[in-house]
Amino acid sequence: MAGGWGCPHEVNDICTKINNLPCDPGMKGCVLAGRFVFADEDKNQRLREKQARADAAPEEEADSSGLHP
Ligand code: SF4
Repeated sequence: MAGGWGCPHEVNDICTKINNLPCDPGMKGCVLAGRFVFADEDKNQRLREKQARADAAPEEEADSSGLHP
């Protein structure tokens, strides 16, 4: 468990999701990619792209709150 969190795709340190490569949390294709900020900035590309989109359309989240009268 290289990730230390019990990824369901990890079996004996092998990622069964990504071509049975050694588990490397946050690598391209990993379920964690884009969800968390990693110390390795190369792994944050998807997160940054998502943040850029969110910044471009700030209205969407507010409208789905259901708190309007
Ligand atoms: S690389 Fe990511 S998806 Fe694959 S086993 Fe590790 S934590 Fe899970």
